Amino acid sequence: MNKEKKRLTSASGSPYYEHENTQSIGPRGPLLIQDYVFHEKMAHFNRERIPERIVHAKGSGAFGKLTVTNDITKYSKAKIFNKIGKETKVFVRFSTVGGEKGSSDTERDPRGFAVKLYTEDGNWDLVGNNTPVFFIKDPKKFDDFIHTQKRDPKTNCKSPTMMWDYWSLNPESLHQVLILMSDRGTPFSYRNMNGYGSHTYSMINAKNELIWVKFHFKTQQGIKNFDAALAEEIRGKDPDWAQRDLVQAIEKGDFPKWNLKIQVMTKEQAKTFRWNPFDLTKIWPHKEYPLFDVGVMELNKVPDNYFADVEQAAFAPAHVVDGISYSPDKMLQGRILSYPDAHRYRLGANYEQIPVNKCPFAVNNYQRDGYMRVDGNGGSNPNYHPNSFDNIVQDENYKIPPMELDSNIADWYDRNEPGEDDHYTQPGNLFRNVMTEAEKKNTISNIIGAMKGIEGPKRNEIINRQLCHWFRADVGLGEAVAKGLGVDVEAIMSELGMK
Ligand code: NDP
Repeated sequence: MNKEKKRLTSASGSPYYEHENTQSIGPRGPLLIQDYVFHEKMAHFNRERIPERIVHAKGSGAFGKLTVTNDITKYSKAKIFNKIGKETKVFVRFSTVGGEKGSSDTERDPRGFAVKLYTEDGNWDLVGNNTPVFFIKDPKKFDDFIHTQKRDPKTNCKSPTMMWDYWSLNPESLHQVLILMSDRGTPFSYRNMNGYGSHTYSMINAKNELIWVKFHFKTQQGIKNFDAALAEEIRGKDPDWAQRDLVQAIEKGDFPKWNLKIQVMTKEQAKTFRWNPFDLTKIWPHKEYPLFDVGVMELNKVPDNYFADVEQAAFAPAHVVDGISYSPDKMLQGRILSYPDAHRYRLGANYEQIPVNKCPFAVNNYQRDGYMRVDGNGGSNPNYHPNSFDNIVQDENYKIPPMELDSNIADWYDRNEPGEDDHYTQPGNLFRNVMTEAEKKNTISNIIGAMKGIEGPKRNEIINRQLCHWFRADVGLGEAVAKGLGVDVEAIMSELGMK
């Protein structure tokens, strides 16, 4: 046998010859139960699929690096930012949100934009979307909201009625819904969209001073979107459009890049900001809180194996590193718990040992055992703390500084919070001041197209309720959508006291 060639073996390493013909009695069968190779092949095949992510099931990923271009050490002691020119390896997974693993890349949907940065102080995951805001601001609503984006329990079809019923009853969704209905809801590719950390986080400097921060990844490829008709056409022609685009670009050396920028807000500014700075349905206006550059992220390697790295990638906003921390943002707080929980369910308690998730630097702790523990399990080292044998120390430099509290425990929904019920000013600003005439036209037509799908006995009620929200954001927007749906504009305006 040629030395260069490798022998075909079973999973336990035993060489075998017959790969295609199952042992049988005579050429026509029946088959013998003793053909273990056949059983092993089928048994493994039957277990190839792991549970699909409940959200963000369809995704694409790539490795790359973040290079620091500006000094932000006055805000953060995070080692990743401690030197201009410093490079840190990253893995990024893009995704759609609502569709199943086989769904189309050009669906109208927000896009996930999850970044894992392998820093020397541990993995830092910035798990955001291509939009700076989200549909809800309290995580208790998340399961209800996602159910409306999935399938109707009876018809097993997607249901515009469910979606608009929920959105119209939860006006805090309006900002995100408007962005979704603009052509940014159907990006041309993952390369042509921005990413946002979305939540407010905190940065802590060497003096343990805290500042609030928002992270933005601005595409260097330029924003490019499909209009609704083209997105629909591509949906049929090539459901894997964005996956193909990302792989092809990187394989030919056209590495996509994003500028990492931040906005910062002091604790004092946060107290007087006219909206709650921790509300995920709101942005911080750039004029008041300007963006400034921190670094450049480049993607330059397609994983050799999709399942190994993209399907098994597990991101969690809980994974922060020294110098970067949480904020009171309720959605962030909810995700700190639910993301690792989802990974433990999907991949097992040892999901952080899967190579794509594994910290490439030292990991020292007393966690042991569990399904699929394949890293040596701490060997013969002590599995308890404190102990008299090992040299693992608790480093005081990593003490978390105390965070002040100024309130009481309750199921808060405080209408006195600044801008708590203002679901309209920011979407109105986006429509009036940011969108071009062409973007406005497409957005209106996308909203009309989507709302036309509302059906059933509650149709008029849902449409009227949602129209009131569009009117409150911008009268021109409300009028245009109402006209497109054949609704009496005057009646709505007088219902809202606008006439
Ligand atoms: P600016 O004019 O300074 O910023 C507007 C932002 O809107 C830019 O970041 C731009 O991104 C983005 N944008 C442009 N078209 C769209 C679209 N169709 N959908 C979503 N975003 C779009 O204004 P402000 O900071 O005062 O914000 C005004 C409104 O802009 C906000 O209410 C919000 O709706 C939206 N916005 C604000 C962001 C922020 O962090 N302040 C971030 C994104 C949106 P780009 O430069 O890449 O084109």
